[in-house]
Amino acid sequence: MNLRPPSLEARIHKIKQQITALGDLRPGNLTQQYNVCGKPDCRCKATPPLKHGPYYQVSFTWKGKSKSQFVRRQDLAVVKKQLRNYRRLRQLLDRWLVLALELSRRRLEPSNPGRSSTKTRRKPRVSSKT
Ligand SMILES: [Zn+2]
Repeated sequence: MNLRPPSLEARIHKIKQQITALGDLRPGNLTQQYNVCGKPDCRCKATPPLKHGPYYQVSFTWKGKSKSQFVRRQDLAVVKKQLRNYRRLRQLLDRWLVLALELSRRRLEPSNPGRSSTKTRRKPRVSSKT
């Protein structure tokens, strides 16, 4: 029986494929807003107020600056999908990094730490610096 879990390389490969398959993406958070207008007798001034909206806005931080942009209602579905794709990318990257760290650790380890062709007695402590 050979039901071993897929290798780290195979799992990383799969993540890369999933990243490639992602569509458009965009970072940020979608928020809804309700506004009050300037007309004196508008419903948004009634009690209770019926404010205008919702208006949709995407805010995000880019290169240390926070930005926000209004999203038209007809673009909402597309923008939501882009935001979802971006979150998915971040998840995939996190998983990739976990695997990459493990893979790196394995690659840097001596492949057969216990085996040595010549019998060596335990040497006195030697500084690893040369
Ligand atoms: Zn109003």
